[in-house]
Amino acid sequence: MIVTRFAPSPTGYLHIGGLRTAIYSYLWARKNNGKFLLRIEDTDLARNSKEAADAIVEAFKWVGLSHDGEILYQSERFDLYKTYVQKLLDEGKAYKCYMSKEELDALRAEQMAKKERTRYDGRYRDFTGTAPLGIEPVIRIKAPIDGQISFVDGVKGEVVFNAKDMLDDFIIARSDGVPTYNFVVTIDDALMEVTDVIRGDDHLSNTPKQIVVYNALGFSVPRFHHVPMILNPEGKKLSKRDGATDVMEYQKEGYLPETLLNFLIRLGWSHGDQEIFSLQEMQEWFDPTDINKSASAYNKEKLLWLNAHYIKTMPYERIIEELKYFGVDIGLHVRKEVLVDAIRDRAKTLKEFASQVQQILDAPQSYDEKAVEKFLTKEAMAVLEDYLAVLIAKGMMSEASEFEEFTKAFLEEKGLKLKDIAQSLRIAMVGNSVSPSVFEVLSIVGYNEVIKRIQNLIQGVRVES
Ligand code: GLU
Repeated sequence: MIVTRFAPSPTGYLHIGGLRTAIYSYLWARKNNGKFLLRIEDTDLARNSKEAADAIVEAFKWVGLSHDGEILYQSERFDLYKTYVQKLLDEGKAYKCYMSKEELDALRAEQMAKKERTRYDGRYRDFTGTAPLGIEPVIRIKAPIDGQISFVDGVKGEVVFNAKDMLDDFIIARSDGVPTYNFVVTIDDALMEVTDVIRGDDHLSNTPKQIVVYNALGFSVPRFHHVPMILNPEGKKLSKRDGATDVMEYQKEGYLPETLLNFLIRLGWSHGDQEIFSLQEMQEWFDPTDINKSASAYNKEKLLWLNAHYIKTMPYERIIEELKYFGVDIGLHVRKEVLVDAIRDRAKTLKEFASQVQQILDAPQSYDEKAVEKFLTKEAMAVLEDYLAVLIAKGMMSEASEFEEFTKAFLEEKGLKLKDIAQSLRIAMVGNSVSPSVFEVLSIVGYNEVIKRIQNLIQGVRVES
């Protein structure tokens, strides 16, 4: 069985780079009818917080990636980790090191002066003497001194580290007894029976250390897939200036979770030249060995394009639900579907969508000066006044098609064209000359309110003669 996991450290928010590896892990597990687990790596008590952990879980819920089983919190497992520290001590695979901070600093300085790699020199590895007084020891693992640590990475192929360039007897428990990062990650991955670790390649240098721990504890080593970073279009580390890095920012900016998933999966993986994938397709086609070897560049245009696609194709109920987040509730509007259809091709984000909806629903408080100047000529105002009179005389109408038919008949009778009235109607309805199809807008605004808005415009705008 394939078991994957996502193991974020809660230091602030869920980063899109993290979410991307989560998606890959999710897809690989689901594709293989395996398990996808969630583990919060909150052992760094100074940097981690419950709020940050909750924020990650919330972001995870927003994108809709379900995980199997309970969330595992590392902070609740200290006692368990300590038993493994003890096991290694008992088996002589780890040892207490009494080196003081001053000694360690001196060793570092000496190695740097000699332009050597700074590393612990193993001086307590075979220590049998009496422990120096007043020093709480750290626990170090006996790492291989020579030889190589190698593994076949699902993305990068064979990766080889020389022990002497990479390793030393690294610390597995600090002097206060707190176990260290690489140690606990290994224990958890082993106990959770993770078969495939998919993570950012910023963790590549941790992997040989983790392999040392797997070997020492007699656990089997999982497959690793190290995913190259997401870079900005200039090839540098992605920063907030290039685009939001916090997953929840995407919700605030009006992106759909589907968009973000689709966007992120494509940043680093492809299937022919297809751009839009349903979750089903992603699941069917994704394989971590197809992840690109080189870093991928964040592309804001693509993100907007994808979002526009999902907005265009989203069911009504879903859009109506999503708009509530932006304070717009059209659930009870009689023409809610016309309203959604009128706007869905014109908004790239839900935020824009909501503001365009609002613009139609609220009577204009003012009129765009340029539009007024350009379109509301004396003739245009006269036409609008005639139109109003005939509209009132005609009586109630509701559908966009009825407004269209009525307007066309009116224009024909007067020997006019649609352009002679369309813009003034738009200005009356929404305050400027940009809106979806004018007949749809009239139908959404509703007969009585249409009359009121035309009257408002006629009263509000004085045209110089
Ligand atoms: N907690 C690590 C991080 O947030 C991930 C560790 C891992 O995936 O092995 O970067």
